[in-house]
Amino acid sequence: MINRSMYDLGAAPNKIRELFAYGMERKAEIGARNVFDYSIGNPSIPAPDEVRQAFLELLEMDPVALHEYTPSPGDPAVRAAIAKNLNDRFDLGATAGNVYVTSGASSAIAISLAAICNEGDEVITISPYFPEYKTWTHTAGAKLIEVAAAEPSFQLDLSAIESAVNEHTSAIIINSPNNPVGSVYPEESLRELAAMLERKQKEFGRDIYIISDDAYREIAYGAHIACIPQFYTNTITCYTYSKSLSLPGERIGYIYVNDVIDNCADVFTAVCGAGRALGYICAPVVLQRVIAKCIDVPSDVRAYEENRAILTAGLRELGYEFVEPEGAFYLWVKALEPDAEAFSEKAKEFELLLVPSNSFGSQGWVRLTYCIERDTIERSMPAFKALKEAYASKA
Ligand code: PLP
Repeated sequence: MINRSMYDLGAAPNKIRELFAYGMERKAEIGARNVFDYSIGNPSIPAPDEVRQAFLELLEMDPVALHEYTPSPGDPAVRAAIAKNLNDRFDLGATAGNVYVTSGASSAIAISLAAICNEGDEVITISPYFPEYKTWTHTAGAKLIEVAAAEPSFQLDLSAIESAVNEHTSAIIINSPNNPVGSVYPEESLRELAAMLERKQKEFGRDIYIISDDAYREIAYGAHIACIPQFYTNTITCYTYSKSLSLPGERIGYIYVNDVIDNCADVFTAVCGAGRALGYICAPVVLQRVIAKCIDVPSDVRAYEENRAILTAGLRELGYEFVEPEGAFYLWVKALEPDAEAFSEKAKEFELLLVPSNSFGSQGWVRLTYCIERDTIERSMPAFKALKEAYASKA
């Protein structure tokens, strides 16, 4: 006997990973240069040299001390370094006691949802959205409520969000800069969202949290990235070094429970309990210590910015429609037929791997990940041209 819902999750890996796996096979068959893989968000910028230096220094430590368990929320010195960094940058008044070090943003979000949701609760997400939100919300016993972003801007539709908030709402997940669209929500709009949620909390007599998925906080091209806990008390920030320091396989990030939350100590205790229930003993210890050493290392996003410029100029010239990305490393492109899955299949004929929007809870678009080699983007343009022509000849 097995758990059916777990079996279903295992049997249907998400489309991004499916396409990524297909890409690996295809590269083995026809050569990596001949496949234009826009599927997965593996940063193409190497981790900064400071990370390598930190590893080398740590390897000189007493190995017993280096590899020991830390307390579940993390090494106190690492938590203190993260809190200081949050205070230096955002003046949050963060204390180390409200930082919980995690294995990346995935566990941060899964733990946060488990900490605040009760059976029958609802969690709002803005569609299109990062697909795993649904998995983690369901695991927390809650229901995911999808509220579509306002098209064509893909910004927050505040009145639609307001209509979705009710007495069952425990949280809304905000991801800005956003995966899959690359949009950034202006601070003004987030402040309006915060004011509306304050009203709704009073109306329904319950806490409604913003889970701020800050996975791409550092990956922005000039736009101001709002820091939500500065203006919304009930915020739980989920952060990762997967993108900012190009360490996706190392699994390191954190949860910050806003110090000004009324029952902050209870929320933090529930976070600790959720981490325990989900089987996290502590985040990888060497990485915790690497992060403490590299806490102030800035992210260098110039290569992504160049890729963005080349990709958008190329596709614009070919007549593709897309949303101008202000952050992250994704481009949201209108499919050339209403069925995004069929369009993604067609694109494969030209060795273009584009993720259909259905995977993100939306119809008629594809996501292109441009944290790839610049040369791949340049060489893919004839394939995009041929794909466009294939549709033009059908019309
Ligand atoms: N949130 C968003 C929006 C993401 O795009 C990702 C990963 O791509 C994650 C969370 C999970 O990140 P991590 O690798 O830190 O688990």
